[in-house]
Parts: sequence; C-alpha cells; structure tokens
Amino acid sequence: MNASGGWERLEPKLAATQRRVQALEWEPDRRNSFVAYTVERDSAYADLDGRRLLMMSGYSYLGLAGDERVVAAAKAAVDLYGTGNHGVRALAGSIPLHEELEAEVARFADREASMVFGSGYAANTGTVGGLVGPGDTVFIDKYDHASIVDGCRLSGATVTRFRHNDVDHLERRLRAASPDGVRLVIVDSVYSMDGDIAPLPELRKVCDEHNALLMVDEAHALGVIGATGRGIEEHFDWQARVDVKLGTLSKAIPSMGGWVAGPAELIGHLRYAARPFLFSAALGPAQAAAALESLRILQREPERVAHIQHQSARLRKIINAEGLRTQDSETAVLPLIAGSDDAAYDLATTCRKNGVIGLPVVTPAVPNDLARLRIAVTARHTEADIDFAAQAFLTSARECGILPA
Ligand code: PMP
Repeated sequence: MNASGGWERLEPKLAATQRRVQALEWEPDRRNSFVAYTVERDSAYADLDGRRLLMMSGYSYLGLAGDERVVAAAKAAVDLYGTGNHGVRALAGSIPLHEELEAEVARFADREASMVFGSGYAANTGTVGGLVGPGDTVFIDKYDHASIVDGCRLSGATVTRFRHNDVDHLERRLRAASPDGVRLVIVDSVYSMDGDIAPLPELRKVCDEHNALLMVDEAHALGVIGATGRGIEEHFDWQARVDVKLGTLSKAIPSMGGWVAGPAELIGHLRYAARPFLFSAALGPAQAAAALESLRILQREPERVAHIQHQSARLRKIINAEGLRTQDSETAVLPLIAGSDDAAYDLATTCRKNGVIGLPVVTPAVPNDLARLRIAVTARHTEADIDFAAQAFLTSARECGILPA
C-alpha cells in the first residue's frame, strides 16, 4: 500500500478486514462470500466452476427470477424507455411505469397509496427518517434488519431496543420512554436470519395502548406468508393492521427496489421527506417493469405461495426429525445451526461437496455460537430437490460432527 501518511492511518482498518476474511476463508474451497453463481433460469440449480449444484440459499422465493414473462416485460420496458432515468423522481426521473407499479403495490398491500425506492435499504432508511427525528422515539426489535437500524441512527430520534419478539419487554420500554413526540415501533414481519414471525396481534394491542405507530418490514414475508402471499396481516387472518407497511422488490419479487404503503396523506408526506427518495435516482425501467409483472403473476398464481409453504414445512420436518436444529423458523427461511463461525464454514464446504449450496451467516450478524447456514426454500424447488437437499444437509452435518455419525 502507498506509504503516505494518510494511507498509513487507514492501514489498520484494511488489515483487520483482511484478517477477518482470511480467518474463515483461508483456501479456495472455504470461499463463501462474493462467489459468482450462474443460477439456471428454469431450475434451482446453479453452475459453479463447471459443477451443477442445488442452490438452497437464494432469495427469489417465488421462483420468478428467470420467468420468461418477467424477462419479456423488462425487455419491453428497455425498448420503450431505454436503460436509465433522466433524474430523481421529483424532477425528470418519473416514468408512467413507476406510477403503474405504485398503484399495483398499493392494491396488493391493501393501502391507499405507495411509493417505490431504489432499494429496500433506501425504503427503510428513507421511511424511518421521514417519520421520526429529534424529540421522537423509535422502538426496534433486537433482530430488526440493518437498514432499519441505520435509518434510526440517521434520523436523530431516540432509539430503544427490545428483546426479540418479546412484547412484554416492548411494553416496559414504551412505559419508560418519553411520552412526547412520535412513538414508532418497527419490526420485521419475518426475521431474515431465524425465519420466525413477529406477533402482530399482540404488537398492535400494545401500540394502541401506548400511542405508538406500528411499522413492519415485509421483505421476507411478501409472497411467502399468508394464504396468498400478502404477508403478516394475512398470516394473522387480518385480525390486526399495521400503520406503515414496507417491503423490497428484490426477493420474492425478482427485481430491485423497495416500497412503502399506507394512507395517501402519509405517502404524500414521505415523497417530500424521505431523503433517499428525493436525492437518489429512480428505479430503472427494466426493474420497474419486472417488479410490476411479478406482482401480477403472484396474484394470478397463488399456488406458488402454497408450494413454498408446503415444501419449507417438509424440509423442516425431515431435518428436525434427525436432530438438525432450525431455531423457531416457521417460514421459507431455515437456519441450520452449526455453532461456531468455523463450524458454519465447515458445514457450507461439506454441503457443496455433497451437491448443495447453503451459505453461512456468522458473527456479528448472528449471536455467538449460533452461526448457521441460511437456507431458503423457493417455488423453484421441486419435491425431489427438497428431498435431495435434506439428505445432503443431514449427511454433511454428520460428516462435520454437528450430528452424531
Ligand atoms: N429488510 C430486510 C428484512 C432484508 O432482509 C433486506 C435485504 N437483505 C432489506 C430490508 C434490504 O432490501 P434490499 O436488498 O432490497 O435493499
């Protein structure tokens, strides 16, 4: 590295990152981060260095990433609008497709209005920043996604964390906090590392009793929970509604972008108050068209949702019966608990040898000794794929000493 004084001061940070990566990925076989896969468009298999492996850690829950109708819609949008935008949404960047997509998202979310951001990350940071600021209080679950945490930090509001899915603890936090200003409770509908679901009816009750608004991030819920994939409200049979509903267009919906939906007046405010919406480029035409087409397919083909729910329950049942732990997962996300960070990397490497890609998640993203493979079941996985994956996970766990041989 260049020896000038400025670079010298940065050097310890660069070296620390290198040490952290090297500690887990000391040889090519152990590489799990930033590996480039080519997933087949019509199956759940991916090519890795000439080997055909079953992808079990992908996010395209509805299996629409390679769908020809979605690809055709994206191509048609590029033909009509070109590849980029002419600016931010508030100025020359809006196209009719954005408005069509926002109307469709609002309809799907059963809300008056919605707006779309360039990413789910931007949707969270922008929405939180647009809702709260100094003098307000945000209450977040300990396992809320990083984009919620970052939005809270940027907002300047007082941030209070409560224990994961612990409504009594939240209530104590609400009682102890300042009664003034906006009080906003934010949870993930489905937690991305554990696959468990927020207790919506209890959260709604406590929010009502303590003058708090309730916001949910449906990133891993849209297309996955509820009989027709409408997320947490449908999962709880519409017993309770949230105030601010937010999601991504990058998981079940195989595109890029994020959205927030709610009363028209709220969205009207956020369009002027959410900084990543105001100051960052609009969603590209291909992304908007792919998202719109996917949302329409989801509504026409609810059997995709049923398939995900059925196959993830099957996979969980098979591996749990043999003693492999999956925390409290009840959705398409299945954490296969390995233990230490090293153990998770060993398990991932062994799974790959046995034909399956299961990617490790290690500290600090998960608690100590709960490093895991984060498995996701999608509508692309056939019953035979799930059986094959289950046996590969069990064999690999035995080979790694996570289960008795
Ligand atoms: N919320 C949750 C719960 C997520 O898991 C993610 C992505 N990992 C995001 C928000 C951010 O979404 P995006 O990748 O579309 O920016």
